[in-house]
Parts: sequence; structure tokens; C-alpha cells
Amino acid sequence: MPESVELTKERRAGATVLDGKRVAEEIKREVREGVARIFNTRGVQLCLAVVRVGDDPASAVYVRNKVKTSEELGLKSEHHELASETTTEQLLDLVESLNRREEVDGILVQLPLPRQIDERRILWSVDPAKDVDGFHPVNVGKLWLGQPSLVPCTPAGIIELLERNEIRISGANACIVGRSNIVGRPVAQLLLQRDATVIICHSRTHDLASVTRQADILVAAIGRPAFLRGEHIKPGATVVDVGINKVTHEEQAREFLGADAAKGSETIRKRGYTLVGDVHPAEADRVAATRTPVPGGVGLLTVAMLMKNTLQAAIERRGL
Ligand code: NAP
Repeated sequence: MPESVELTKERRAGATVLDGKRVAEEIKREVREGVARIFNTRGVQLCLAVVRVGDDPASAVYVRNKVKTSEELGLKSEHHELASETTTEQLLDLVESLNRREEVDGILVQLPLPRQIDERRILWSVDPAKDVDGFHPVNVGKLWLGQPSLVPCTPAGIIELLERNEIRISGANACIVGRSNIVGRPVAQLLLQRDATVIICHSRTHDLASVTRQADILVAAIGRPAFLRGEHIKPGATVVDVGINKVTHEEQAREFLGADAAKGSETIRKRGYTLVGDVHPAEADRVAATRTPVPGGVGLLTVAMLMKNTLQAAIERRGL
């Protein structure tokens, strides 16, 4: 096993915990090198445009993080902030102008958008060649056809996390709980492309545990704290926890975090909340062979993959 693989795993009494931070750093280092190579050989500085509408505090944090990471990796970043009362037409105008500008390589419109804006029209207006979120139907269609495309960042990050830790995908039974367009569906497609046998579950799935217990790779993208328990997990499985749920009560932290509850309670006292995944970590530790932590797992890969997508978009569109 290569040294880098060993380093991404934290050994514990129970499951091996995959270190999202180390994989994210590895990807960012590769992007930084790619961006520098293009600048040094072609004199081109890559540019990511991030658009935020309104004053949603969580979106402001995400956007700040994306802009900061772009700059750290040598990309130019443009941050467009529009007022809450912006109309669909005004936002379309901005996206169109970013589409036309040759020096803009990636366009990201931060979701959610205020209610008066037609989100579908906006996402469909982004030039597919600059669609670094991978949400445009052309990119979604290419993904389902198995053609090269810009792939949504979180699902792409999940694959990187599995592959860089040498988790075998080909031939594995994979089960995804959640069928959203941002996570569940695209990750199912990416696993299928890598020859897993894939099942997608959702809120109408009958006897969920009997289905999830067949999975060698279980991906949880539900949005319900600690929803998947030991009974949902096949002994020896790899469990990927995509969920990010805020828990504000110490009593809930005890229920959802098991062995990690003390740390969670301390975080609640300090910050007012703690983050809990969709999988009960202590129960997963008892049954799974490998699992991703929350926080510190999949979540960290998303921004790294946004940077990687911007590099890929620039290389393909500009023929670099
Ligand atoms: P979403 O759009 O709300 O989709 C949730 C999915 O879970 C739906 O398909 C729903 O089924 C399914 N579901 C809900 N209750 C269920 C149940 N009792 N049994 C089985 N399936 C059930 O959520 P999302 O956007 O995919 O996000 C999922 C989680 O991942 C959230 O916690 C989110 O915060 C997190 N997330 C993290 C990242 C990151 O790490 N960067 C990125 C995106 C999302 P139906 O379709 O039948 O309603």
C-alpha cells in the first residue's frame, strides 16, 4: 500500500476513519501545480466567478471559503454579490456576461437563491463549458451517458476519497440512500461507471435496512442526523457519510454521537451547535470496516473538487 494511502486513514478500535482533509489537501496541491503550470507556460491566469444573491449567512460562509481557496491555489476569483431583491432577469444578465467573457473559466451561482428567482432558468443559463458545479442539463446528460463532463463536486469528491484510499469499487454492491440531483443521483452514476452494482434508496424504500445491509459501499445523503444505525450496515462495509446536520441540544448530541458525545457537547457549549452526519458514528464503528467522519470527511472534498473542476473546465475550453 503506498505511503499516501496509509496516511489518509486514522486507525481506531472500530472502523478505519478516512481523513477527508488529507485527500482534499492532496487534490488542492495538484490543482495549484496545474494552475501554476498554465500560468508559467501560457501566461494565462485561471478565473472562477462566484455569484451570491441575498444575505443567507450560510451561503456567505461557503462563498468566502470558495473565494479564499481559489486565491490560495493561484486562481483569480471574482465575487459578485447581488441584493436579495434581484430579479431572475437581472441575474440572467450577469450570468450571460460571465458566459461571454473569455477570461472567466468557471461560473458558480451559490444556492439557494431567493424565492422570486427561477433557479432552473439560472442554472440552465450557465455555459456548460464553464459549469463548474456540474448542474447544467448538458453536463447531467453527459454524466448519464458515461461521457466526460463536469461532475457535481460532492459526488466527485466521494469518488476521490474512495479511490485515493484504495477502496474497491468495481464489483462492489453500492447502496446510496438519497436521490437528490446534487448528491444521490450523480454519485450513483459515478459508482456505476466504475462497475459497482448500484441501488438507490429514498423515503419510499420498503424495509430500508434489508436493502442497505447488502452494501459493500453505503453512501448516506439524507439530511437526517444519525439516521442510519448499526442495523443498516453490512459488517465490514465502507460507509460514506455525506450528511451535515446541525444539532443544538446536548441531549441530542448524546443520542446521535454515542462515544463522541462529549466532544459534541463541548462544541455545542462553545459554538451553539455541533455537526452530525446521517450515520450514527459509534454504531458504524462497531459494524463497518471503514467510514468517513463528520466533520472532516466528504465535506472538505467539495471545495477542493470545485477547484479541480475549474482547472478541468479551463483546460478543455481553452485547449490548454
Ligand atoms: P435532499 O435534496 O434533501 O435529499 C434527501 C434525500 O434523502 C431524498 O432523496 C429523500 O428521499 C431521502 N430521504 C429522506 N428521508 C428518508 C428516509 N427516511 N429514508 C430514506 N431516504 C430518505 O438532500 P441533499 O441535498 O442530497 O443532502 C443530503 C445531506 O447531505 C444533507 O445533510 C446535506 O447537508 C448534505 N450535503 C453535504 C454536502 C457536502 O458535504 N459538501 C453537499 C451537499 C449535501 P425522497 O427523494 O423520497 O424525498
